[in-house]
Amino acid sequence: MENIEQKLISRINENATPLRIMHVCGTHERTISKYAIRDIISEDVQLLSGPGCPVCVTPVEDIDFAIELARSGKVITSFGDMMRVPGTTESLFDARSDGYDIRMVYSIDDAIKIAKDNPTLEIVFFGIGFETTAPSNAAALLRGVPENFSILTSHKLMPPAMEILTRDTNLDGFLAPGHVSTIIGTEPYDPISEKGFPIVVTGFEALDVLLGIAMVQNQLETGRSCVENAYPRCVNVEGNLKARELLYEVFKKTDSKWRGIGMIENSGLALKKEFEQFDAVNVHADIYKRLHEKKASESDNVDGKNGLYEECICAEILTARAQPSQCPLFGRRCSPEAPVGPCMVSLEGTCYNWYKYRHNK
Ligand code: SF4
Repeated sequence: MENIEQKLISRINENATPLRIMHVCGTHERTISKYAIRDIISEDVQLLSGPGCPVCVTPVEDIDFAIELARSGKVITSFGDMMRVPGTTESLFDARSDGYDIRMVYSIDDAIKIAKDNPTLEIVFFGIGFETTAPSNAAALLRGVPENFSILTSHKLMPPAMEILTRDTNLDGFLAPGHVSTIIGTEPYDPISEKGFPIVVTGFEALDVLLGIAMVQNQLETGRSCVENAYPRCVNVEGNLKARELLYEVFKKTDSKWRGIGMIENSGLALKKEFEQFDAVNVHADIYKRLHEKKASESDNVDGKNGLYEECICAEILTARAQPSQCPLFGRRCSPEAPVGPCMVSLEGTCYNWYKYRHNK
């Protein structure tokens, strides 16, 4: 007797027509790669990676600024995967090897503790991530932080990026990210689905992903495009109101640069005026200015590609125009041990997952 997974696979394959479905979540990529979902469904149904890996889309300018702060004697605190992402000339990890004080933390609270324990040092927390991580950073600032603490804010918002991707990437629908949707709910996707793109909020088990694919397929078969929720055990229509209240008490929407993609209107978060004294760009404005003057006078080799090295095709991968195996460096010069581009660094990176789960096949 067929189990549910087998039934979904049969349903997808028996009804397969050429489809391009994008996910925008690194954990979805991990599930798809780990369970070889691309191999068990029809080749007609293409599963494409979008910009769902937070360290992949963190702009090179922010990494360079964090490194410059460390070189200027500040203590940088960062999540571990962010430390390995290449900046213009080096990563935070490389800078730490040069002796600068760069510490790995698991949360903003770890960074605040370092600041409290070391009142003579200036601590900067590198705040990255989507709608899921920003509320806890907002909550920490509301609880109060010491004067020697600041935050380098590089948070991103997912719906504006999805909207941009509908414009010229020939997509048929989306699997919306389960984690982000627990915070924002399903409503922010309505304007995108109203443009004719089926969207299914999807969880992270293989079964969830198969269900999400089948539901997108079903919408297209029946001529519908709406937002459906295939992850109701965690996501509801309005999301987490308390988390969003905290978020927008501290942050406001702003235009933001995505590595490999460029500027996207209202797709980032900046600290509100009341919290500007904790904004690393304000607190260390002299270092920020000096770095930008230096950059303006140099012609570095990454500016032309939105912060990526010449041969790296992360930009194409993040926008579903290419797959990792099409990169000439994949598995050769670029590997998780020696990443050339940001997509090879994190557990959520598309190149990382393709390397880990497919490279040796
Ligand atoms: Fe960039 Fe490496 Fe991926 Fe190629 S394999 S696209 S160099 S991260």
